[in-house]
Amino acid sequence: MRETACLFVSLLAACAASVSPEPSGVPEMPAAESMVRASYRGVVELEAHLANPGDTVPLPLGWAQTCDASGACLVEQAAGEGAEVQRIWSTPEATWIEGDANRLSGEEALHHRRLLKLFSNADRKSETVVEFTHPRLGTTSDRATYDALSPEGVATAVLVDFHDGGVAWRGSLALEGVTPVDDLAVPEAPPAKSGPGPSIAKIGEGLWDVRLPSLDARSFVVEFESFVVTVEAPWSSAAGEQAVDLITNQFPDKPIRYALYSHHHPHASGGLRAFMAAGATVVAPTAHAAYLEEVTGRDFSLEPDRLSKAKGQPTSIAFDENFTIAEAGQSLQVIDIGEQSRHTTHYMMFWLPEAKLLIQGDLGWFVAPDGAVRVGGRSAGLLEAIDSRELPVETMLQGWPVNSQEPTLPMAKFRAALSSGG
Ligand SMILES: [Zn+2]
Repeated sequence: MRETACLFVSLLAACAASVSPEPSGVPEMPAAESMVRASYRGVVELEAHLANPGDTVPLPLGWAQTCDASGACLVEQAAGEGAEVQRIWSTPEATWIEGDANRLSGEEALHHRRLLKLFSNADRKSETVVEFTHPRLGTTSDRATYDALSPEGVATAVLVDFHDGGVAWRGSLALEGVTPVDDLAVPEAPPAKSGPGPSIAKIGEGLWDVRLPSLDARSFVVEFESFVVTVEAPWSSAAGEQAVDLITNQFPDKPIRYALYSHHHPHASGGLRAFMAAGATVVAPTAHAAYLEEVTGRDFSLEPDRLSKAKGQPTSIAFDENFTIAEAGQSLQVIDIGEQSRHTTHYMMFWLPEAKLLIQGDLGWFVAPDGAVRVGGRSAGLLEAIDSRELPVETMLQGWPVNSQEPTLPMAKFRAALSSGG
């Protein structure tokens, strides 16, 4: 599935996302004295979309960097065993992956330029530290430490600690070679991405779809008689705040009583702080207590998000296996299907028995360009989770991905795709 591919294909773009306001910490690229291509290789520990918060996986990484006197740079990056090399161009005005139709967003470009600075060693100091407000993690330090310099003045080994929008990694890369470069020949940058903005739309009786297309992320809203419940809290405090604003504008008289999320990955829970700040109670498995505490305690003092300015303590409810929200003959069951998800150790799906509708995050299906429904290992786990609980599901809603497809699928189509082998 694409999310897994993201771990290995791109450390910056495909899985990361942009949202305003832009974070601080834009590094100024110092001009190179004489142009060289410095190439590094190593294995880093990648913290990404894995089974538990904080889990890491080793990732072979190749990185070659060439910068000219104007501050334009070319990076040739290979992330993963035998991975194809991505060529990433960067000028003070734009950053883009060669071959892509659009340049990277402002936030993605900032993450990339921070990494350029970490590798540039232009200060000839043994340590480079960039402190910035990460849109999801709050105050964060990226760091590179060097040991010795080559005759050309580049570090012979670099220990890097780096965080981009969706992933973080730490590891040591050794200098493979330094070659002089005469001319960088920077190509013309592609145009900036444009598209629809955030929106909220009704997709069923008492069901709303809050879309943040630039992030390929969404929240769902389930409307009860006197309150609303949100499902998924995407990406970052700023993204979550955009979603909260759309929801509170749509439902001025109904508080967001509960904020639910499917799992700990950024597109499902990275924006939880915004929902906490809006007064919602987060419903989470008991085993996520430490994770929630970490989310609540993130330091946004340099660029305050709403939670850092909120009065009162955020509230949460811990549950094991099941938790039911009910009012006036309507109910929503939060069900932790755990490792049946074949994705994370704890994974929540959301069952609306009256509507015979199941909401799930990123386990279900992809729709191919020809309209065919594609399924995989996670889909089989999801079906097992549904059938082992004998849930009479008629319709499924899916939280991710957003831009490539409609969020609903009749259960019969899902079953058919699985029985035909996807
Ligand atoms: Zn996930």
